[in-house]
Amino acid sequence: MADQVFKNFINGEWVDSSSGQTYENRNPADTSDLVGVFQKSNAADVKAAVDAAAEAYKKWRLVPAPKRGEILFRVADRLFKEKETFSREMTREMGKVVAETRGDVQEAIDMTFYMAGEGRRLFGMTTPSELKNKFCMTVRQPLGVCGFITPWNFPMAIPSWKTMPALICGNTVVIKPATDTPKSVVNMVRVMHEEGIPAGVVNMVTGAGSTVGQPLIEDDRVRVISFTGSTEVGRRVSETCAPKFKHSCLEMGGKNVQIVLDDADVDLAVDGALWGAFGTTGQRCTATSRLICHKNVYGEVIKKLGERASRLKVGNGLDETVQMGPCVNEDQLNTVLKYVDIGKNQDGARLITGGARLTGGAYSKGYFVSPAIFADVTPQMRIWREEIFGPVLSVGSFSTLDEAIELANDTVYGLSASIYTRDINKAYIAMRDVYTGIFYVNAPTIGAETHLPFGGTKETGNGHREAATAALDVFSEWKSIYVDFSGGLQRAQIDNQ
Ligand code: NAD
Repeated sequence: MADQVFKNFINGEWVDSSSGQTYENRNPADTSDLVGVFQKSNAADVKAAVDAAAEAYKKWRLVPAPKRGEILFRVADRLFKEKETFSREMTREMGKVVAETRGDVQEAIDMTFYMAGEGRRLFGMTTPSELKNKFCMTVRQPLGVCGFITPWNFPMAIPSWKTMPALICGNTVVIKPATDTPKSVVNMVRVMHEEGIPAGVVNMVTGAGSTVGQPLIEDDRVRVISFTGSTEVGRRVSETCAPKFKHSCLEMGGKNVQIVLDDADVDLAVDGALWGAFGTTGQRCTATSRLICHKNVYGEVIKKLGERASRLKVGNGLDETVQMGPCVNEDQLNTVLKYVDIGKNQDGARLITGGARLTGGAYSKGYFVSPAIFADVTPQMRIWREEIFGPVLSVGSFSTLDEAIELANDTVYGLSASIYTRDINKAYIAMRDVYTGIFYVNAPTIGAETHLPFGGTKETGNGHREAATAALDVFSEWKSIYVDFSGGLQRAQIDNQ
């Protein structure tokens, strides 16, 4: 039992919460499987972590960025070596199939290598002065302590998207993992510690949003909050940060759409919709939750999709033949079942397959549901408008490209969208006019790569982007530097006439 108890990581040490309380984390595919016992932390633990991060910042910001990068290269290498163990543990803690958890850990590896390389770039610019004998340049400066609040659907990838760019810029961090997925962050933090990240630079405090997340946001010494989660919580994070002008980077909900034109390769579009809608049990912020098809191919898509979805193998994600794992917890399962009921009985959409809780046998101890597809969905329906965050796909139809684009944009969110077509002109029009942060052509709405900016428009985000060099803009501030070597007073805008 003792080896299943995991502690907070503060100032380079594994420590119990001062609350003296813990909570259990169980496998959503088999609740008799205890993944671990984690600290139920409180505001005092958060304060201790911020104390450590604030102290460590004084030295870490002065470590040359290429040296910081060298440590991150070692971290990436270790994550790679432990990839299989970490992936299997991640499947146990959140349910997605092991092929996908390998992808999650790989994303952390990719991000760590990418940001390690940034240690030798972190480019600023030089530019001519309007005055003689004067030199102008820009440099990135870190902000200080960064606080991270992360969701459970990408248990290691998302914490790494925040941690690695923050560290390479010279900040120190406090991570609050999602309550359902602390083990993956324990794994990442342990590797960072063992590979030489100094004490206090990376800290982790587990527990609930209200008792750990909220004090982290409220601590005046935390200069940046990077949050990924629901729009509802993100709005509160933003409101708490605003009076202090604390920076907040918010990555929130989605209601992503795949468009299928009548010239598309229908089988390819069906492959894409299945992967986009039911990968990670539909629990991706970029999941395809709306599929709109030209009326000429609508019937064919529905038929093929229904057949394929009903054959998807649902089960424990550690079984390599399983294609869809459980929902992450009972609440999420109940949300899915609630929306299936709304779709059928309130919206009046046509359920063509799935949407039932799976019980008995291997399903008896998990939160399993069969992948659901609704046809004849229209824009006023709740299953069209609201983020479900589960394996429920709503399918509708259109007659023209203009109508498809209007439907695609008919959502408060703006994360990801895709179009399937063989007409390059139409692809470019959609690429230009669909207002999202991410867009795919002849590929599903999921599948971001770490060296491109990640984030969304409207209520999905607040204008920032994660990943790529865009992440550096979240975790550094520009300093413009003017060096006058004329030996005299030169006045900008006045002495340059
Ligand atoms: P959530 O908003 O419930 O929780 C996210 C995190 O916030 C968790 O760590 C939680 O403990 C914490 N939290 C909750 N209440 C808090 C409070 N009052 N103060 C501070 N922290 C608090 O989201 P979730 O259920 O973990 O994840 C699902 C949501 O995340 C979906 O809406 C999904 O679209 C979104 N998401 C977005 C992206 C993206 O990049 N846009 C990526 C993944 C998930």
